Amino acid sequence: MSDVILETWDGPAVPIHALSEEAAAARLEADPFEKALAATADFKGRAGQALLVPGADGALAHVLFGLGAKAEAAVFRALPARLPAGTYRLETAPEGVGIERIALYFALGSYRFDRYKARDGERPKLACPGADLAEARAVAHACALARDMVNTPANDMGPRQIETIAREIAEQYGAQATVIAGDGLLEANYPAVHAVGRAAHPDRAPRMIELAWGEADKPLVAIVGKGVVFDTGGLDIKPSAGMRLMKKDMGGAAHALALGRMIMAAGLPVRVAVLCPLVENAISGDAMRPGDVLATRKGLTVEVGNTDAEGRLILADALTRAGELSPALTIDLATLTGAARIALGPQVIPFYTDDDELAAHIEAAAAAEADPVWRMPLWKSYAEALDSDVADLKNDPDAWAQAGSVTAALFLQRFAPPGPWVHLDIFAWNPKGRPGVPTGAEAQTIRALYRMIRERFA
Ligand code: MN
Ligand code: MN
Repeated sequence: MSDVILETWDGPAVPIHALSEEAAAARLEADPFEKALAATADFKGRAGQALLVPGADGALAHVLFGLGAKAEAAVFRALPARLPAGTYRLETAPEGVGIERIALYFALGSYRFDRYKARDGERPKLACPGADLAEARAVAHACALARDMVNTPANDMGPRQIETIAREIAEQYGAQATVIAGDGLLEANYPAVHAVGRAAHPDRAPRMIELAWGEADKPLVAIVGKGVVFDTGGLDIKPSAGMRLMKKDMGGAAHALALGRMIMAAGLPVRVAVLCPLVENAISGDAMRPGDVLATRKGLTVEVGNTDAEGRLILADALTRAGELSPALTIDLATLTGAARIALGPQVIPFYTDDDELAAHIEAAAAAEADPVWRMPLWKSYAEALDSDVADLKNDPDAWAQAGSVTAALFLQRFAPPGPWVHLDIFAWNPKGRPGVPTGAEAQTIRALYRMIRERFA
């Protein structure tokens, strides 16, 4: 959606006056026509409100856009949904908010998933002459990519399609792509990825993709993403309601690729390794069974108490692989637990790390980017809930521990590299649409993580 923000434009553009509630009240008081129109439309300058003001000929002359009590760039995410197609420019802008930030949120708010629909015409565009929109464009593009991948149903977004997207990113930015697929996973020592994905049709065989980018002397950021292209639950099959949205269970991989792409596009002074285990948690005669004991790349054995807790199994191997690369920072993103939603709902993303400085930095970056997160504890004494009678650990924690997102994070911690590591239990979905935030896929936490990485390795 990065094509809706324009660095150059010399044609006509409808002026937009972005106003706080206070400024809107003052403006309306001075203009009886606008005041009457605003009264009809209940426009008060509240955050995200817009008033389309016609001229004498009835055509759109200008737009009043409400900023609410305090001016924040994120409000502009609601703007495109309020506008008819056409080109606009910001005539009155809020103080202290850069046009580049406004353009980013305008682009994020312009996202639509229309792959399977006849095109429904043009979108509103924002002319920002003279602005440098390269970063806003790259961030918006990466978020749109992640959302497109998550919105695309599993029949068109299998392991092969995600591999293709990863290879395209690698080609565009000069990264090296390595893909290990099918039984090759056994030879290359990714036994858990193989065990989870082996039941799928051969066309949708499991694979491990690894992108490597950047100069050898730079610190390495390892980004791991859960790529379950569809999660039936396996033999512990999900009920219909729980399976309905499972096309989005590759959201972690989509987010990892998108975050990697942002870093590569910006040319940040780091190396990047994007590690995505891609599997379909399918049901066949070859499916892993409850009670099976799996080998892992790390050498720990895992008893499969429940085949629906598959994400942590594939992440175990990918995190072990990340550790072999000696990262300066490891991030994993996964649509891992329903318990994360019970704790915090769809919009606030729990994250886990034992590194207080990293946690504080992520919180600050999340606030600055309007990309909400909430720190949760790696509560040590719950780790016992993962003890198995027959293996080193099990993937379905004892019920007494209750906190399913926490115990999932504790499971991952057993495999995480030493040093700074953060796990984000994302949802990747908006269950309830609002202006600029349509129902469907959402890119969560990667704008915050991008800012944190940019600042940390500056
Ligand atoms: Mn599952
Ligand atoms: Mn899953």
